[in-house]
Amino acid sequence: MSVIQLLPEHIANQIAAGEVVQRPASVVKEMVENAIDAGATAVKVIIKDAGRTLIQIIDDGVGMNESDAVMCFQRHATSKIRTANDLFQLTTKGFRGEALASIAAIAHVTLKTKHKDEPELGTRIEVEGNTIRVNEREVCPVGTSFEVKNIFYNVPARRNFLKSDNVEFNHIRDEFERVALAHPEVAFSLHHNGTKIHELPKSILRKRIVDIFGNSYLTKLIPITEETHIGRIEGFIGNPELARKTRGEQFFFVNNRFFKDSYFNHAVTMAYHGLIAEKTYPIYFIFLDIDPAKIDVNIHPTKTEIKFEDDKALYAILHSAVRDSLGRFNIAPTLDFEQETAFEVPYEQRKQPVVAPFISIDSNYNPFQSSQMKNSGGSRDYSSSEALQSKGFGSKKYSPEDWKNFYNVEEEDEKVEQMTIETEEIAQEKHHHFLFRFPYLISTTKSGLLVIHQQRAQQRIIFEAVNERFIHTPIASQTLLFPFEVPMQRTEADTWNANKSLLEQLGFVGRLEENTLFIEAMPDFLSDDNVPKLIEGMMDVMLYRSVDKADIAFHLVNEISVAAARRFKVDSQDVAQTLTEQLFQCEHHSVTPDGKKILHTLKLEELDKNF
Ligand code: ADP
Ligand code: MG
Repeated sequence: MSVIQLLPEHIANQIAAGEVVQRPASVVKEMVENAIDAGATAVKVIIKDAGRTLIQIIDDGVGMNESDAVMCFQRHATSKIRTANDLFQLTTKGFRGEALASIAAIAHVTLKTKHKDEPELGTRIEVEGNTIRVNEREVCPVGTSFEVKNIFYNVPARRNFLKSDNVEFNHIRDEFERVALAHPEVAFSLHHNGTKIHELPKSILRKRIVDIFGNSYLTKLIPITEETHIGRIEGFIGNPELARKTRGEQFFFVNNRFFKDSYFNHAVTMAYHGLIAEKTYPIYFIFLDIDPAKIDVNIHPTKTEIKFEDDKALYAILHSAVRDSLGRFNIAPTLDFEQETAFEVPYEQRKQPVVAPFISIDSNYNPFQSSQMKNSGGSRDYSSSEALQSKGFGSKKYSPEDWKNFYNVEEEDEKVEQMTIETEEIAQEKHHHFLFRFPYLISTTKSGLLVIHQQRAQQRIIFEAVNERFIHTPIASQTLLFPFEVPMQRTEADTWNANKSLLEQLGFVGRLEENTLFIEAMPDFLSDDNVPKLIEGMMDVMLYRSVDKADIAFHLVNEISVAAARRFKVDSQDVAQTLTEQLFQCEHHSVTPDGKKILHTLKLEELDKNF
């Protein structure tokens, strides 16, 4: 006798159901997608007990006639593909024809549906364990309603495996939100145990995001668009302020289908590099529109992973598209809420040449002198405006010539031109500044108030100045009469040597002797009392941070800018004015390179609301 037997169909269905229906949320996903495929303009989702007791999905799509209503519960019954070739031209969400069969295998399902071409009565079908118990004609509106009760009633292992109601409902909400985001043109609602969780009217993407995630997103979404030969990229990315401690709102869609992709996620995250703190995650809602023949949605049974033919090219395009959007957003000042000129510029000043920050080289700087001064009670004080100006930071004597000389940007005309347009008004505007409690500086603008964190602003200014310059020309360094001695372990010394040319480019010249590093020269704008701590920080970067040269350079420049800004303090209107001007000439003026907030804006309207 043969030992191999075919499984009865209901058992086969149950096993297959394990693939498709992992939890109540899977039912919600499959059924809401079916509703979209059926051309619904409104979809209502009603849940009881996180889906354990009831999942009901009601749509106003085309509906089904009686024979389709019976057929739809069969395995591999689908109206969406006919031939294998159709798999490469998919425009629907479903195509496997196994969702309804799987759901009917592990729950009690009631279907009420009426096809739009049916004259009067629709169909009511009740299914239990893949067996049709009831099939009646009944009055019902055009469209489809599925009620799924007692999920996993016949698979106790699965039922027991379900997590708390909270967890299960969160999964449901996630699935719901993914489909709702992909289809702002469809109205959705979600109810749980009689409470309305979401009521989303038909809308456009930006409004849909705000409807789901709250009003705070309204001003913080940056549009992203890119048209390429591979396809189109569209959507919104969050400004750096919206970055989260937990991986939250990160959404990729391809042809309106949600998918997860750690490779593309990396492309986006790297574009935020330097704008958000480490271990925080940017938010994004990115839609790819790509020829269906160039993707394979078949790779994963629950279909959240997708294979792309041109994934490498897409990575690069995504990265630069996000970077571009962030750049545009940051250059256009955030304080100009209505895209109007944020600062009132007296007419006669508008035509004056653009001014730009520069760092002059102080050839008189002598660290020996400075420690002498310290000993005699007059330390080199970077908080005074004179001291700042002597270092070039805060100097008001800039000219386009200085800009060019310092940044060595003749070949980058385009960039200079862009800066010219965007920062022209700001660069020369006279603001009123108020020194509030340190470290805050308050500046007036046309549309409200700006609260600036002085040291962070200075850190950003120095960071960008150094970062732009050192690639072309080494940072001017000052030879120290008495080198600093830094004790070093063998590995530290090796690390220093391995990065020697980068360090020299940044203005640090060191000589190693046995267990000691002698710093012989350092950037001239650093104060000597910063150095031990700075070297320690830089060592950490080189030892532990990364193996990527560009990344190391980025973090080193950041360490340097932190050190240089540490003692910065605005002490006069002039310094305040210069700081504001220079900050707004920075490419990214709202956060420090390590992701801390520099600016807070208080809109006039917000103030008005309080009175
Ligand atoms: P698939 O979506 O992969 O085709 P399903 O098992 O999810 O497979 O659905 C089977 C078929 O039932 C669909 O192809 C469709 O014709 C029909 N169907 C399912 N849900 C609906 C609905 N809400 N409105 C109209 N037709 C539906
Ligand atoms: Mg389906």
